[in-house]
Amino acid sequence: MIDTPRNVLSSSPAHAGTVRTGVLVIGAGAAGLSAALAAAERADVLVLARTTLPESNSAWAQGGIAAALDAADSPLDHIADTLVAGAGICDESAVAALAAAAPALMRELAASGVPFARADDDHFALGLEGGHSRRRIVHVGDATGWAVTRALIARARRHPRITLLESCHAADLLDDDGQVAGALVRDAGGAWLRVLAGATVLASGGAGALYGLSSNQPIALGEGIAIAFRAGAELADIEFVQFHPTVYRTRAGQGFLITEAARGEGGLLRTPAGERFMPAYDPRAELAPRDVVTRGIYAAMRACGSDHVLLDLTHLDPALIEAHFPTICARLRADGLDPASAPIPVAPASHYLMGGVRTDLHGATSLPGLYAAGEAACTGVHGANRLASNSLLECLVFGRRAGRAAALEAKGRGQAAGSRRHTAAGKASSPAGQPAEPWRAELAAVMVGSAGPLRDAAGLRAGLEALSGWPSQASPDDPAAITAANAALVARLILASALLREESRGGHFRTDFPRPGEAWRGHTILRRGAAPELAATVAAPPALAHAAD
Ligand SMILES: Cc1cc2nc3c(=O)[nH]c(=O)nc-3n(C[C@H](O)[C@H](O)[C@H](O)COP(=O)(O)OP(=O)(O)OC[C@H]3O[C@@H](n4cnc5c(N)ncnc54)[C@H](O)[C@@H]3O)c2cc1C
Repeated sequence: MIDTPRNVLSSSPAHAGTVRTGVLVIGAGAAGLSAALAAAERADVLVLARTTLPESNSAWAQGGIAAALDAADSPLDHIADTLVAGAGICDESAVAALAAAAPALMRELAASGVPFARADDDHFALGLEGGHSRRRIVHVGDATGWAVTRALIARARRHPRITLLESCHAADLLDDDGQVAGALVRDAGGAWLRVLAGATVLASGGAGALYGLSSNQPIALGEGIAIAFRAGAELADIEFVQFHPTVYRTRAGQGFLITEAARGEGGLLRTPAGERFMPAYDPRAELAPRDVVTRGIYAAMRACGSDHVLLDLTHLDPALIEAHFPTICARLRADGLDPASAPIPVAPASHYLMGGVRTDLHGATSLPGLYAAGEAACTGVHGANRLASNSLLECLVFGRRAGRAAALEAKGRGQAAGSRRHTAAGKASSPAGQPAEPWRAELAAVMVGSAGPLRDAAGLRAGLEALSGWPSQASPDDPAAITAANAALVARLILASALLREESRGGHFRTDFPRPGEAWRGHTILRRGAAPELAATVAAPPALAHAAD
């Protein structure tokens, strides 16, 4: 059982001002911005970002967004591919809602000015990625997330009912009579605020940065998930972590993702000696699902005693490489590496969290007044493994649904309007919890050693033991310690859930239980103060007033 205090703050802040809003959205990535724009149709909305905008994982998404737009494709094929990737535990109604909404949503984004690549005036240029049976990746070069996020931010900034606050840190959720009533927030100037809201949407992103080398931004430590868990929200399937097979370590030691579109366009994986190894590992070779490619690379790295393999694009047309991957080319050249003439050293690194705060199809969590969307949520779309380019889509589709439902709830409670507009005092600054802090390296060593792509019971228990002494609370005056306490809690939750699931499925591979087990075809559920459990099917949380979509 994972127990932890209700609040991360060990004491109330000495002073805290009060701000009221209809809907509070914690997070300004694709999910939070989509939720905010939808909620603002009916309510005043306050959106918090932990850093300055547009910084977020959403802004760094490269490959694109999946949508069945080709004449030979259909949402049914998109559903089928998603279910295969999810390895038997996707929520089929969530997958159907995702795939059905995608084509119209892409047309809507294009009409609003997102410059998606075109085959001709009437058709999108569609890319191919691993696990997709058709070309269906809508993209803006290799900077899709940047283009989409920028468009959403511009719309949110123009909206009269939306207030965006940057460099604000939500630390704990507030309760009022059994209902989530907003959050306690530290603003850019270091002042504490009680943000009271008719409904709250958690869109705080994933937790890849717990692992050190990661494709994620350094703030992606799962803090929102910790906040929700402390408040009593149920989490589902948090052991399922996706490792991206091809992450390049920059000279500065940061992870930089090489999109799988590079393999989709013909990139080949080779050992440092130049031998291809994926065809012998899986018949789908470089285009196998991510977890299979990740384990194939691990096996190759072990066999040749190397910490990397090579992603070879040198046989491709240099003009194609430059046209399809300009951001990647620019980043690699900054390190003196030209992908047209030399293979790229890559290794697997943490990339995406499939599990999160359990929601229904409208983002409602198990806590009244709390909704969740995007990578912080578990809608059931991804099951045990996310299909490439389904996550931005999930943010857009389910963010919108969560925002609408939250606004309806706020309105139903007569709390759709906000008070005065709040402008965060002080200069926007980098958040606490930067990569140089020593606790990050300690936490990463535990996570890589115990809960990486290959796991077993002894390692998971050792990881839990290593984290048992970590502080679970912090002073309101110590923002870095607040982040560390929340990050360590999320790490413990991943370890506990991975220990419970005695099988291998999707992104979760146990060397002591290397096969999937029929008895495990269900969802792991974590709740504060309760033993972790496996639910055969996930029952919908109590229905609230839902908007149709
Ligand atoms: C390098 C990279 C490439 C990717 N490529 C693709 C791709 O091609 N296609 C695809 O579909 N997916 C891709 N993904 C995955 C996808 O980008 C993410 O899953 C998705 O963007 C998550 O969006 P989000 O809105 O849930 O979270 P994020 O975009 O991470 O936003 C989280 C927000 O929450 C805020 N926040 C966090 N904690 C707090 C707090 N305590 N208080 C206040 N605010 C907080 C952050 O500041 C941020 O604004 C990629 C991911 C990465 C890292």
